[in-house]
Amino acid sequence: MLRATFAGTQLPTDCYGLLTDAVALRRIIRIMSKTSRRVVFGVLLIITLVVSTGGALGYLGRLTLVFDRHPGKSLAIVEEVPGPEDGPKCPIDARYLDEAPDGLRPEVLQAWKSLRAKAADQGVQLCLNDGKRSRQQQQKEFDDAVQKFGSEELASKYVLNPPDRSMHVIGLAVDIQPIESAKWVEKNGSTFGWCRRYLNEQWHFEYNAGYSTGGCPALVPSATGS
Ligand SMILES: [Zn+2]
Repeated sequence: MLRATFAGTQLPTDCYGLLTDAVALRRIIRIMSKTSRRVVFGVLLIITLVVSTGGALGYLGRLTLVFDRHPGKSLAIVEEVPGPEDGPKCPIDARYLDEAPDGLRPEVLQAWKSLRAKAADQGVQLCLNDGKRSRQQQQKEFDDAVQKFGSEELASKYVLNPPDRSMHVIGLAVDIQPIESAKWVEKNGSTFGWCRRYLNEQWHFEYNAGYSTGGCPALVPSATGS
């Protein structure tokens, strides 16, 4: 057995050198410290791995979260997101609404805010007469149109059916009123990714980031193809 006794100095830093059987003890200490270094290193490694894995997962988690709120969200879910059923009247033309831009995809919402702010800078007020619709809301519009026009065939000339063909359901479209304001958007909107798409809908604009660089595509007769 080791006989570790102190002789003389009380300074802890001197202790090892003053022990009897110092060589054996040092060897043990060396082995022990090698072992404890390994243990410490191992523990640190595990901690590092756990922290970095956690960090990576957290990071991915945030990415996933962001994607969930972005177009990464599956279309089926986007289609279920409703827009406001109603809203305040457009302050400059009470025939229209100025809905909250609820339910729009985040990048679409951002582009809408930028567009609206730019218009306001130039003294033009844009009213959001209609924006996001859920599939059910679009279906209701179609059903109402069937009531109004008397047949599905006639209704489908005016309202898209099936509902998931609508860019309002997909979350990329806004209807801007009054027409004077829509005209401003037709002229200035592409910078912000907004383009008019249909000859028969002067108020309907669709967002595509590519429009801001590539400009607007040619107008097509109507969304319903009729
Ligand atoms: Zn529209």
